[in-house]
Amino acid sequence: MLRRHIEGRGISDPRVLDAMAAVPREEFVPPGLVRDAYRDGPLPIGEGQTISQPYVVATMAEAAELKPGDRVLEVGTGSGYAAAVFSRIADVVYTIERHASLADSARERLRELGYGNVHVGHGDGTRGWPEHAPYDAIVVAAGGRSVPEALREQLAPGGRLLMPVGSLGAGQSLVRERRGEGGAYTAEGLGPVRFVPLIADVPARNR
Ligand code: SAH
Repeated sequence: MLRRHIEGRGISDPRVLDAMAAVPREEFVPPGLVRDAYRDGPLPIGEGQTISQPYVVATMAEAAELKPGDRVLEVGTGSGYAAAVFSRIADVVYTIERHASLADSARERLRELGYGNVHVGHGDGTRGWPEHAPYDAIVVAAGGRSVPEALREQLAPGGRLLMPVGSLGAGQSLVRERRGEGGAYTAEGLGPVRFVPLIADVPARNR
């Protein structure tokens, strides 16, 4: 899978390729789908959500310019697969998921597999995880209309934020924002993508 779907499609960062090779994707998919684990596609994991496509995880890791020493925030833990990949490169990964059942099973799975530098939280990731900020990289694994301000604020100077931005009608584009050492933000589009929606848990009176 690595050679054909990952390297073959232009991922070249050796750290990303090593991390992808090191993480056993079959451990992150439901038991009935293990034989599909090394096909390059998303797979259902419950709660109407999916484990990300390997190529997409590799693209996010490369575009986020992950490196040793980095502190990473992921929004949208899902199965925990992407967090596991990021944790093979960065120092520590905080990952937050809005479905309690997915957060619990990802936490358990990552613990069993020995990913001691991944911390799974349950909550609304559009607010980030301020207790552990700032982050050198923030990777949002679900698509929304715009980058939540709280996430921008939790980016360290020099940090990179990746998020699929767009609408159902117009489609999504993978956007990378950088926070300059002086604090200014710049944004660039990296191409079309398709992710499940980022759902903010708004207070009941606003629903
Ligand atoms: N990276 C995951 C796949 C994530 S799919 C993996 O490798 O398995 C996107 C996930 O984002 C879903 O599990 C969805 O429940 C979650 N999500 C959507 N909106 C969210 C929010 N506001 N906060 C936290 N998680 C959210």
